[in-house]
Amino acid sequence: MSEETALLSSRDHDEYGTRTKPDAPFNTRVRSIVWGVLTLLTTAVLVVMLFFLDDLPDSLKSWAGGEPSDPMFAALSILDKSPIIDGHIDLPILARYRYANNVSSIDLNSGMPAQVDIERLRKGKVGGFFWSVYVSCADPDAEGEEFLNATWRVRDTLEQIDVSKLLIEKYPDTFQLALGTTDIKSAISHGKIASLLGVEGAHQLGNSIAVLRQYYALGVRYVTLTHSCHNAFADSCGIAPGKEPLHNGLTPLGLSLIDEMNRLGVLVDLSHTSDATAIQALKYSKAPVIWSHSSARTVHDVPRNVPDEVLKQITDLGKDAVVMVNFAPYFVAPDGLANVSAVANHVEHIGKIYCDFDGIGEVPTGLEDVSKYPALIAELYSRGWTKYELAGLTGGNLLRVFEGAEKVSKNLKAAGAQPVYDLYDKRTDIPRGGWNEL
Ligand SMILES: [Zn+2]
Repeated sequence: MSEETALLSSRDHDEYGTRTKPDAPFNTRVRSIVWGVLTLLTTAVLVVMLFFLDDLPDSLKSWAGGEPSDPMFAALSILDKSPIIDGHIDLPILARYRYANNVSSIDLNSGMPAQVDIERLRKGKVGGFFWSVYVSCADPDAEGEEFLNATWRVRDTLEQIDVSKLLIEKYPDTFQLALGTTDIKSAISHGKIASLLGVEGAHQLGNSIAVLRQYYALGVRYVTLTHSCHNAFADSCGIAPGKEPLHNGLTPLGLSLIDEMNRLGVLVDLSHTSDATAIQALKYSKAPVIWSHSSARTVHDVPRNVPDEVLKQITDLGKDAVVMVNFAPYFVAPDGLANVSAVANHVEHIGKIYCDFDGIGEVPTGLEDVSKYPALIAELYSRGWTKYELAGLTGGNLLRVFEGAEKVSKNLKAAGAQPVYDLYDKRTDIPRGGWNEL
């Protein structure tokens, strides 16, 4: 016996020469039997799960590809994969009026007044939102009929951009500034809340398209064409009882503004605009548009809500758009009737969602703050919305529209589109005839 054979043989036999390992064919037989039994068991479990899917606990049911029966369980698991991207949160205006924009006195880790703080954003499964860098309309008498008198709106907007960015920086484990869809996805994948900036009203531009470019450079990614006042670019719908039109929609400067927004990749937001402004902008914009916080007029008849006539234009014109539903009770239902179900009625009518927290004094029952988003998703789930539809609703639709606007911007720039240099024609402070005029 060679040394090698001796070694092998010593492993297979004990000191008395009795074989300690089974013969190879026996070993293979046992293994086949074990595998066979395991395969049979797995198949049996899968068959049982398939036939009795409805009787399984929700945790196993969603794992097995079934629909959970508890709407809240379903809502939370949908939101885990597709968190909410909110089109409009008014935290910066709360910072201005309640804390004089002193970020050191704002503690978002504590229970904040109003409807937004970090704990409730997390509980509500918020993956991103637009910080509304809103300042109110100027006093129309002081500003003058043609919007020419100086106001502090541009300064105030810069302060609101500043306070938003300082708050985002103060909580780097929670917030991440986002300048586009890639940033939104990256923030969410790192467990952060993507933080975007939106200007709520072109009255904040000081009648100047150059100001839009500078807001863009600071990170602004949507501009609402009006707030509740008319401005040099477009007509507003007002609030209640609504506003008489001034320009019958967009002005020539408003069209130029949209050109520049399309070129830059700033979303055109049609909340607060008159119906004529909305229809003209929808037709004119090369990029998909948004309504950052507007509900359906058919469900609750107030001028601030979007009428079916405008909603139908989206389809008729073959455009892409997203309407993010406003939660402010006055726009949701008659007095005292705004609740989760009433908001869901708007969502069902429009088919898309989002909301407005911290800019509203009252709240709908069951949707008291940002932690309550899952309740709305649960309500829609129990009305038969599929998980795919709900994933679109929570954030997918906004991402699609935003990506569409980014693509338009890229194509326009590639085609050589130049910055828009148009000036408001009523301005007299800049000479138009060159040096000779000086
Ligand atoms: Zn608003």
